[in-house]
Amino acid sequence: MGKVLIIAEHLDGKLNASTAKCVTAAQALSPDAIDVAVFAADPSAVAAEAAQINSVAKVLSVANDANAQAIAQVLAPQVAKLAEGYSHVFGPSTTFGKDLMPCVAALLGVAQVSDVMAVESGHVFKRPIYAGNAIITVEAPAGQTVVATVRTASWSEAAKGGSATVEAASVDAELPSHTRYIGLAAGESDRPDLQSAKRVVSGGRGVGSAENFKIIYDFADKLGAAVGASRAAVDAGYCPNEMQVGQTGKIIAPELYVAIGISGAIQHLTGIKDAGTIVAINKDADAAIFEIADIGLVGDLFSVLPELEAAL
Ligand code: FAD
Repeated sequence: MGKVLIIAEHLDGKLNASTAKCVTAAQALSPDAIDVAVFAADPSAVAAEAAQINSVAKVLSVANDANAQAIAQVLAPQVAKLAEGYSHVFGPSTTFGKDLMPCVAALLGVAQVSDVMAVESGHVFKRPIYAGNAIITVEAPAGQTVVATVRTASWSEAAKGGSATVEAASVDAELPSHTRYIGLAAGESDRPDLQSAKRVVSGGRGVGSAENFKIIYDFADKLGAAVGASRAAVDAGYCPNEMQVGQTGKIIAPELYVAIGISGAIQHLTGIKDAGTIVAINKDADAAIFEIADIGLVGDLFSVLPELEAAL
């Protein structure tokens, strides 16, 4: 049927769970082989992790100082070169993949298939449109490499237990000088990563202020959860925008999602469509969030949360 190349996402020497989700999506194609490419200054640790994912045949380890940071413009020419011989090139539909894969598609002269949530055949896929309110079936032209991003919320991680071969690959691609790494400004946090956390606690406008958000952080810490927010909370300056969940924020699929002081606007719900159990705490019994919540608690968050925390 063809071969799939998956571009590994990683940070600080650790493989991101999105890579194993891309492997599951690739499995749905029943391809002849699934290979994973790891681009880094020293890819050895990440490559060893990728080699453990079931059904991965080969891990291509591309060591280059220029790959120390995941800069799409630097990685794309290398991915495009490496893509020769592959029928499909997959990356996750995360910030990393959404940055990189369109550049790869452009270099290969193909149109990207975005946000694959189901595989119908080698060239036919399903993806959400209109903020997840409709599902569209798209067909990539036959005879061209399929470059796609995989909607991580729609696929579970492929299991571990594999033992793929790790092969050092050298890629002869001209790297651009117009885009350079200057520095990274990232929020420091000991909490789980919002995009891959199994539990997420989010606060909305109802929390009222940045100071009040402490009650959300404390509750999340009690649950070992990542912290998210609605756009209204972000716009009001209660928390940084990397915490935003929803259509214009992060699309997440935790096992448990707790929405606190969030009304349940469609643009927010888009971000949590694939969450497991949804718990809502809101003082307005008519809030839309209760229509999709598995467990709803009508009450003032400032009295409910301390009670819940004490009970936990
Ligand atoms: P509100 O709608 O104001 O709700 C606050 C809730 O808190 C109310 O239900 C209220 O009853 C409750 N509350 C108040 N006080 C308390 C209390 N003491 N205890 C308990 N409950 C209390 N939004 C997103 O979240 N993510 C997105 O990615 C996103 N993208 C968007 C993209 C576009 C193009 C547009 C147009 C909008 C987008 N929005 C997004 C905004 C979205 O439409 C809503 O405005 C937003 O989600 C509302 O946030 P909220 O629920 O926190 O605020």
